This record gives sequence, structure tokens and C-alpha cells, in this order.
Amino acid sequence: MDRALIRDPFCAWCGKGPLKPALLFGRGSPPDPFSGPGPHRLERCAACGTLQVNPHPGPEAARAFFSRASLFLEKTRDPGGNMVDPVRRAEERAPEYETYVKTLLPLLPPRGTILDIGCGTGLMLSLLPDRLKKIACEPNPAAAALARKRGIEVREVFAEDLDFPRDDLVLVIFNQSLDHLIQPAPILEKAALRLAPGGLILASGLINPRSPAAILSGPNHRLWHPFHRVCPPFRAVVERFASLGLELVLHRRPFFRKKTEASVPYVAKALLTLAKNRISGAGAPSPPFPGNTITYLARKSLVPVPAKTEEIPFKPARAGGRVFPKPFSGRNLRDDNQPRKKH
Ligand SMILES: [Zn+2]
Repeated sequence: MDRALIRDPFCAWCGKGPLKPALLFGRGSPPDPFSGPGPHRLERCAACGTLQVNPHPGPEAARAFFSRASLFLEKTRDPGGNMVDPVRRAEERAPEYETYVKTLLPLLPPRGTILDIGCGTGLMLSLLPDRLKKIACEPNPAAAALARKRGIEVREVFAEDLDFPRDDLVLVIFNQSLDHLIQPAPILEKAALRLAPGGLILASGLINPRSPAAILSGPNHRLWHPFHRVCPPFRAVVERFASLGLELVLHRRPFFRKKTEASVPYVAKALLTLAKNRISGAGAPSPPFPGNTITYLARKSLVPVPAKTEEIPFKPARAGGRVFPKPFSGRNLRDDNQPRKKH
């Protein structure tokens, strides 16, 4: 069944625009039951530079796509054509998660609640300390079942339907999930709002539209996908965070899932493949490459409470070049209190 695509007039990341056509990907791809027929279009926001799938398959198709149990239970082909086991692939990312946890540990308070939006099989949450209450949101039933096996409390809902806990949230995790949301902006805003002052947001694996592989591969970049809704560049992420009172603590470019990939020969070979693909124009997907995604850690600003209140000096505001309200002067007073002289 082909689905009708939905076109958004505004940027799904910053809410501004206008959106201008950037490139077509998935040219010649057969119709897909979830995303409809290719090619799919990426548009670029003139205000923030975010690349986004637009028109997009819409929330209903996204829900159907991410609800499939097979997403976590069946072997599938990766963009390079290799068969991969999704659970094994997730487990292989453990070293990357451990790096995040190592960074988070000294920043987390002794008590509080962690909310993981799109927790998958719960691997990341399982690595975080049990002194903190853990709540997870995962709409995929197969993934939720695997997370529960790790003893994690899972709310089996989509982020859009999540009743955000009233607890003091000390950490909100979007582990490879923020850019999968059809409308990421309101969910990120809600997370920032519910975060306790000083609380953290970890947004991992956001696709970097200005990575070497993305630039060299154009429409054949392995990460373009109808359900990878937004690809915000670094600056757009920092600015969006800042507008929500979140300051960037650090960012990382995760790579090297396997030890074999953490080598100079691997990177050299991948670079050669990128160059060859570019020259031949064969349309082969790009290989995994450093910088393809960026992980961000941000902290909600602490609003300092002044020790004593200070008298704020009166400063008239200027409106349309005229001072308003009029500063008091002898002349004003005389005008108000004395009858005008008749001429
Ligand atoms: Zn934008």
C-alpha cells in the first residue's frame, strides 16, 4: 500500500524556514509499505540549515514502522547490504554507551529520575546507577519486552503520547531517537521544561549533514532514510538547545563500534571507497565513516537566586524613538498641575 506523503511548511527542528529542496535520495527504490515509493526528498531550512525529510511519510506510517517486532527480532540488511542481527548490533554499541555513562556519572546527583525516550532494549539505562529511578518509554513491544527483562520499568507508548513523569528529572536520554520523531521540536521542548535545574539531556547519534561522508556521497549517503526525519548541523543543535535554556556540556562523534573500525587502515579504505563512489557515480551507499553522527550532552541552566534583592534603577524604554513614559521634569509637572495659559 502506497502512503500519501505529508508536506510541512516549516522546519521540524527550529520551527522557522523557509524550506528549500536540497536533494533526492532512494531514487528508483521500490514502494515501501511504510514510507511509500521513492525517491524521498530532503529539504534544507534556510534559517538553521537542518536537512529534513519533506514531504514525509507522516505520523501514522512512522508508528507502523517503529512498532514492528521484526525491527528488533529479525536479521535485516544494513545500508551496505550486509545481514545484521539487530540485538547483536545494539549490544555491540555497549562500549560507546559505557563512554557516555563514564561522562555522566560525576554529573548526576545522588537522587532523582532518569527518563529514557526510545530506550530500545534498555542497554543504556541498565548501565546507569540503580540509586536513580529509571523510567523508559519504548513503543516497540519486542524492544520493551527485552528492556523489562533487564528490570526496567517501560511505558509502551510513543513519545508523543507519553505522560511525562512529574518527578525531578535529572537526565533525559534520547538515544538515537530524537531524529526519528516526526515532530522532534515539541518533545525536546517538553523534556527541557520538565528537567530539573542543572538536569542533563543526552541526545545521541544525530545525523550530521555536514560530515565528510554526507558531503562526498550526496544522495547515496548511507544515513538518509525516510524515517530519519531531521539532520540538524552542529550549530542548529547548539542554538535550539540555547533557546530552551540548555547549554552544551560536550559533544562526541561516536564511531568505532567494532575495534577493527578504530584503525587507520579502515578509515583510509573507507575514504578511498567514498572517493571511488563519488568519481564513478555508481550510486553505491557510503561506508560507515567518522563524523557521520554527533552525540550531544547539554545541561539545563541553573537560575541563580540573588542573595539580596537590589533596587533596579528606573530606565525609560524607548518606543518608536520617543522616550516612554516621559521622564518627570519640572515642565511635565507644571503642564499636568497648572491650567494651560490661554493665548
Ligand atoms: Zn530550521
